[in-house]
Amino acid sequence: MDTKHYEVVIVGGGISGAALFYELARYTDAKSICMLEKYEDLATLNSKGTSNSQTIHVGDIETNYTLEKAKITKRTAKMIEKFNLMRGLQDKIMFAHQKMALGVGEKEVEFIKNRYEEFKELFPYLELWDKEKLRELEPKLVYADKEQTKDRPEPILAMGTQSEYTTVDFGAMTKELAKAAQEEEGVTTDIFFNAEVEEIEKIGDKYKLTTTSGSVFTANFVVVNAGAHSLFLAHKMGYGKHMGSLSMAGSFYITNGEYLNGKVYMVQNPKLPFAALHGDPDILCDGKTRFGPTALALLVLERYKGGKSFFQCLKTMNFDGNILKIFWDLIKDSEIRNYVFKNFLFEVPGINKGLFVKDARKIVPSLSTDDIEYAKGFGGVRPQVLNKEEQKLMLGEASINPGDGILFNMTPSPGATSCLGNAERDIKIVAEYLNLKFDEEKFLSELTD
Ligand SMILES: Cc1cc2nc3c(=O)[nH]c(=O)nc-3n(C[C@H](O)[C@H](O)[C@H](O)COP(=O)(O)OP(=O)(O)OC[C@H]3O[C@@H](n4cnc5c(N)ncnc54)[C@H](O)[C@@H]3O)c2cc1C
Repeated sequence: MDTKHYEVVIVGGGISGAALFYELARYTDAKSICMLEKYEDLATLNSKGTSNSQTIHVGDIETNYTLEKAKITKRTAKMIEKFNLMRGLQDKIMFAHQKMALGVGEKEVEFIKNRYEEFKELFPYLELWDKEKLRELEPKLVYADKEQTKDRPEPILAMGTQSEYTTVDFGAMTKELAKAAQEEEGVTTDIFFNAEVEEIEKIGDKYKLTTTSGSVFTANFVVVNAGAHSLFLAHKMGYGKHMGSLSMAGSFYITNGEYLNGKVYMVQNPKLPFAALHGDPDILCDGKTRFGPTALALLVLERYKGGKSFFQCLKTMNFDGNILKIFWDLIKDSEIRNYVFKNFLFEVPGINKGLFVKDARKIVPSLSTDDIEYAKGFGGVRPQVLNKEEQKLMLGEASINPGDGILFNMTPSPGATSCLGNAERDIKIVAEYLNLKFDEEKFLSELTD
């Protein structure tokens, strides 16, 4: 069988892999790049449009982000907007909706007021919306009943905007990134489907990648952007042994018609490690509102595909006393314990809907079980990395760089929003290692403000 050689091989055809594929082709003088994807198409796992919340996470309405984190996400979110505008994809795969963070009850109203003051300099377009303004913009948040005769009893206040791009079909964007890469001239940009990389070996100064069907590829540099599978492949090569991964599945409930006019995010309970439930109009389901995601620890690396990801997940968790200690520290807190238990019940047919609706009523008080259903086949898996040395959950994205011509990226939310920013970080490492030219000026002028 032929061995194909490339300067850079990217493992994984989700949005992270496709973003790097694009940036290498457009902004460096690399001559040959290849992307290997396990399935028959790009973006069939977490990057698929129905797997995630479709939100460009800018940091303006995400109350689980600090100001420092928002400064970073604002920059990388802008890249998503710039790429889509450059390719004329606004109103095709990227949309502008109204969006807000909603405070319910006195404590949260106070929180929103303070957060608005803290964030308004970074996001000058943000407005404070009181109950009367919300009655006009998003009436279902204000009324206690469907007939809209009486108001909900608690005070409410939101900070939001109507002027920004908020929503992307990240699955479609993955394909657009790959297409744009393949339009670049003077560089070979190959994509192989049904190419599941089983083994990566370092031989001399090159890497040899073997797929489950026996195909062999070699590369001077390898970037593993295989989502929840990245750590599995790293462990196989002896890297990242101080890390384990916890697969947090996220599911959704969907309304039977258009319900909200825009995105409504809630105030985060700072004790909880995963983002609070939100409501998002789904751009792939005629604007029906998706509520979620839930957060359930599952022993799989991917959903809805069957196969061997259960065994791979067990291995990747890298279970030992340190992992047990992380779990214990989490569940000994009664609020986290209740949250974990409740999220488990959200998946149990028969009782799940009633329980979920109770939570979602914090957003829409008049929501009833007849209005929503469990969104079958939606949702994905967030690979949350566990740091065994520090005995704690590492929130956000994680990357392993042994400094040897290979990188492994783990990308929970907001991994789709930060795909171009993460690729920018990686491209600098690849360019330095391979002595490639990175046209940073062109990159910055095209993808940043
Ligand atoms: C419920 C939920 C909601 C989310 N909401 C948002 C949101 O609103 N906004 C946002 O920015 N982010 C969101 N995220 C996060 C976002 O979806 C992910 O961070 C992003 O899609 C990760 O992209 P990726 O390319 O790294 O991984 P993936 O999309 O998982 O792609 C990995 C690819 O690698 C392939 N692969 C795996 N193993 C191999 C192998 N051995 N050989 C070859 N190929 C392999 C897989 O088939 C897959 O195509 C959400 C995630 C979830 C689960």
